[in-house]
Amino acid sequence: MSDDTGKPAYKDFIREAVAEDLKSGRYKEVRTRFPPEPNGWLHIGHAKALFVDFGVAQDFGGTCNLRFDDTNPEKEDMEFVEAIQRDVRWLGFDWEDRLFFASDYYETLFELACKLIRKGLAYVDDLDEEQIKEYRGTNVPDKNNITYTPPGRNSPWRDRSVEENLDLFYRMRAGEFPDGSKTLRAKIDMAHPNLLMRDPVMYRIRRMPHYRTGNTWCIYPMYDFAHPLSDALEGITHSLCSLEYEIHRPLYEWFITNCEVFPSRQIEFARLNLTHTVLSKRWLLQLVKEKKVSGWDDPRMPTIAGMRRRGYTPEGIRDFLGRIGIAKTDSMVDIQLLEHCIREDLNKKAPRYMAVLDPLPLIIENWPEGKVEWLEAVNNPEDPSAGTRNIPFDGRLLIERDDFRETPPPKYYRLYPGNQVRLRYGYIVTCTGFDKDPATGMVTAVRCVYDPATRGGDAADNRKVKGTIHWVSAAHAIPIEARLYDHLFEAERPMEVPEGKTFMDNLSDHSLIIQSSAMAEPSLKHIGIGQTVQFERIGYFCKDPDSTENRAVFNRTVTLKDSWAKLEKKLAGPAGA
Ligand code: ATP
Ligand code: MG
Repeated sequence: MSDDTGKPAYKDFIREAVAEDLKSGRYKEVRTRFPPEPNGWLHIGHAKALFVDFGVAQDFGGTCNLRFDDTNPEKEDMEFVEAIQRDVRWLGFDWEDRLFFASDYYETLFELACKLIRKGLAYVDDLDEEQIKEYRGTNVPDKNNITYTPPGRNSPWRDRSVEENLDLFYRMRAGEFPDGSKTLRAKIDMAHPNLLMRDPVMYRIRRMPHYRTGNTWCIYPMYDFAHPLSDALEGITHSLCSLEYEIHRPLYEWFITNCEVFPSRQIEFARLNLTHTVLSKRWLLQLVKEKKVSGWDDPRMPTIAGMRRRGYTPEGIRDFLGRIGIAKTDSMVDIQLLEHCIREDLNKKAPRYMAVLDPLPLIIENWPEGKVEWLEAVNNPEDPSAGTRNIPFDGRLLIERDDFRETPPPKYYRLYPGNQVRLRYGYIVTCTGFDKDPATGMVTAVRCVYDPATRGGDAADNRKVKGTIHWVSAAHAIPIEARLYDHLFEAERPMEVPEGKTFMDNLSDHSLIIQSSAMAEPSLKHIGIGQTVQFERIGYFCKDPDSTENRAVFNRTVTLKDSWAKLEKKLAGPAGA
């Protein structure tokens, strides 16, 4: 479909399909849903699903439900329900009063199951889990090594009468049979080429309290039965989900058709995969359980909670989701694009401060004893309304250890004996020498002299120096802890491992470096937990809830180095076209 200009009228194939359905009259309005299972925290992959579900509804003036797909009592929990709602809201998606739980449909689902029994389309089976698998059969390679699927075998209980099936199903519900001794199965086709269509299990007996329904039920519906019918009960028109559900679609349609309910339509899109990242609740849970991270909200985790704690912004995340688009086939997205979007957003918003992560004393030998000068600094060059602040400057400063070299490498424009640099917002200083600890060989202080005529911004100062370095006043600075994060996995594709290894073997050993003796300018005191700032020349940092009265903790959100922008430029070619 295209408009007058010949450009596609819709951003992606889902919006095209939805528009088509409205035009053809298949649906009169658009209702989508986001269906998380409350068994883990949301990650950036879920954010993509949210972006698609809410975005499509919004574009067509429709609505999007938040529905907890809570049909598995084993792993579900209220803690997750609350965490998920908080994260969805934080990302900027609003379900208003449309909050639903699949567990609220248990009674209706039970009735629909009875309907299928009455239609001769479901039966109670006495085979156990192992036997069901065995009777179903598997894909096997033939003599030419081409996969084929020989037909399965019918269960000996497949032809029970409707009356017997109904009686047994009610007694399953009443708790007359032990766990695992019976199931309710759809009667479809044991020779179907799609294994999922070979009489899938609809209900199993499981004596386990559910976090919402308690001990009311001892039988629980399976995902493939509960999901399409939950969609239908809510009148969902477009059930958008990731690609792994594609082979479930015939079953989705079978249940909808045979239960004679609202005809929801399932459309699949590609999952989001990110380099240096694993994106599945199962794997993320393993990282948490094996204490490779501090929890679901560890700032290195690709969870929404982790990203929030790290200092990522909802706007930056949504910008990223908009840029990657929606595709029909799975692909890998470069995590540098996400970092680029966060950096661009923070560049506009984050106030600037000076902090020294690895302090080295700088002594200005000709500075008048006891004098303190307050220098004016711009809070955000990208945002004049952010104003200015004053920073104390005196003769004893701290600079970054890395900003001084005894012997400079080529193209080193920072401090070394004889060289000049500008101290940000302040004066030009000339390095006159340094002190060294004879025992360790470590430089313990750098000495210099300043030129009073070179105060930053003064009209008199038109001297050019190549380097500008940041600093804090030793007497005024406040101690902070800086946590420097890097990718959790060194490998670009952590799941690709040689035989005998797992993705856990790909964990990086430098994904967190703690700078515990960092010092910051005093105005940083006023920053609240969760606020993000820029430490000039270093990166963006977000104040962590681990902060105490005496020491603020700052998480590095992203560095200032934008490798994505560089990559884009390179791809665009020398002409920059
Ligand atoms: P995981 O695979 O991480 O365990 P899930 O699919 O089991 O996730 P659900 O809570 O069932 O988690 O997912 C809710 C929705 O999010 C589903 O519609 C699912 O398709 C979608 N989703 C999950 N992971 C991704 C991803 N990486 N990219 C896009 N959508 C995703
Ligand atoms: Mg899944």
